[in-house]
Amino acid sequence: MPTGDIDTLIQLLSRLPGLGKRSARRMVLTLVKNKEATLLPLLSAMQAVANSVQVCAECGNVDDRNLCHVCTDERRNRETICVVEEAADLWAIERSSIYRGLYHVLGGTLSALDGIGPEDLHIEGLIHRATTQGVTEVILATNATVDGQMTAHYIMERLRDTNIKLSKIAHGVPVGGELDYLDEGTLSAAMKARQPVM
Ligand SMILES: [Zn+2]
Repeated sequence: MPTGDIDTLIQLLSRLPGLGKRSARRMVLTLVKNKEATLLPLLSAMQAVANSVQVCAECGNVDDRNLCHVCTDERRNRETICVVEEAADLWAIERSSIYRGLYHVLGGTLSALDGIGPEDLHIEGLIHRATTQGVTEVILATNATVDGQMTAHYIMERLRDTNIKLSKIAHGVPVGGELDYLDEGTLSAAMKARQPVM
């Protein structure tokens, strides 16, 4: 059984999403067996990210600068904001290359069960951006889960009395599906087939 530093590393890694103890042990073994080729480059990459990681004050994207690469990109259509739950969803849509507007990362969803209310998410910032910066369309791209859809509905209600066009991406995807798990083709189709919601 691994002990000491090696065990500590396994424990830390096994807390990450998608990794259990078994995968963590295998990962650590690979790292220590290939110290020069894998462990040391990983160490320096992690150190670099730890030093540079920032959350964009405008949209909530996770990037190595604030404002982020999307918000500072002059070629973007600044009249459209796509609302997503997490930065991973933003990255997924970026991978699909279908969308050239701005984003807003909520940082989760409303959840009655977990006691997460509007004040726990970045919703006020979204309303502010949408209503003061010449935005003409807000695309709701929350996940096709109960909480994701409830969150989209709440934002729709908040923006109902504006002239902003509201649309929802089509979820021609498994119900309960999360954006980050979709292939780029499915995500492109969902964005193209977005439906006006009011
Ligand atoms: Zn940003």
